[in-house]
Amino acid sequence: MQDRSKVKNDEITMLVVVSACAHLGVLEVGRWIHAYIDRNRMRTSLNLEIVLVNMYVKCGDVEISSLLFRGMKEKDVRVWSVMISGLAIHGLGKEALGLFYEMESIGINPDFVTLTAVLSACSHSGLVNEGLKLLDRMQIDYLVEPTIEHYDCIVDLLGRAGRLKEALGLIQRIPLKPNVALWGALLVACRVHKDVDMGEKVAKEMFELDPHHAGAHVFLSNVYASYKRWELVEEVRNSMKDQKVRKHPGSSLIELGGIVHEFVTGDSSHPDSQKIYLMLDEFRRIRRMKEHQSFSGQMLFDIEEEEDKEACLSQHSEKLAVAFGLIKTKPGFQLRIVKNLRICEDCHSLMKMVSEFFKHNVIVRNRSRFHHFRNGDCSCKEHW
Ligand SMILES: [Zn+2]
Ligand SMILES: [Zn+2]
Repeated sequence: MQDRSKVKNDEITMLVVVSACAHLGVLEVGRWIHAYIDRNRMRTSLNLEIVLVNMYVKCGDVEISSLLFRGMKEKDVRVWSVMISGLAIHGLGKEALGLFYEMESIGINPDFVTLTAVLSACSHSGLVNEGLKLLDRMQIDYLVEPTIEHYDCIVDLLGRAGRLKEALGLIQRIPLKPNVALWGALLVACRVHKDVDMGEKVAKEMFELDPHHAGAHVFLSNVYASYKRWELVEEVRNSMKDQKVRKHPGSSLIELGGIVHEFVTGDSSHPDSQKIYLMLDEFRRIRRMKEHQSFSGQMLFDIEEEEDKEACLSQHSEKLAVAFGLIKTKPGFQLRIVKNLRICEDCHSLMKMVSEFFKHNVIVRNRSRFHHFRNGDCSCKEHW
């Protein structure tokens, strides 16, 4: 019989390692660890099964995570939440909602996390009525008091659908004090739907709560630039300098042959840098040829997740990562990229072109969701 403390230690090690793979989005390493667990006939506890399901979800393999989930003998509310949230971030909103109802039908009560997952599924897939219905049912049927996170999903849901006034009404009506993230969800919607007046008001609300908020500053600066009010642009830029507003640098990871390569925007430190930049030139040539619409004149910033346009749009980290992936692999290969910020519209359009022209499937993980690019299309259907 194995020493019980050793078994316990092995399990803790595996929990940590599998969770790290999920965090980094390294599927090949994750698969290897899973095979190691099977090969050594390690006992898989419920906790280990949950982190494995989560690892496959976060590494972009939702099919395998579904298979593992279906094969589990015992399931608690945590793993249902992981799977619902997994389907949501892969843009499979209807499937996520279906799973939620299945869970309900077998008598498992959703908790705070499950409800956040299912509301975000509605939001990512534009299921407005379903989301609003669930919010209404939360207190009565599930005995869960809505929190800022739940309202955040609903503001996002209404905002994506262009129902900005309703979203604003909700923020003003809720019994909780709105935080900067909640206003931020509305600001993103104002940007997408080009409601400059409301966006300006929302940005000011955000400054009240966080005078250093980078996303709100950049939004205002872009709005004023679109009016050609350069003196106001200057004012916002100066205020950013005075307040030392810091923006996160964009970075992307790509895993090839079990090795993780990291790129930051404008990076030229990689040994294959020369080839990568030649590939970027090739992208430009193909795009011109295909007359792909360039979005560089539009507002490319997103709330607290923006890339700096001045840092050169054409060298965003995910472009460098995909160029490197193309150099190193054959057509038909699946390239998986993990990005720390939101993908901008220009990179999104480039990935579609890559999936069509080079015949590679590309999966990009953002901070909040996955984009599966195939044959010139994306699974997000432009909802992101
Ligand atoms: Zn970009
Ligand atoms: Zn997409």
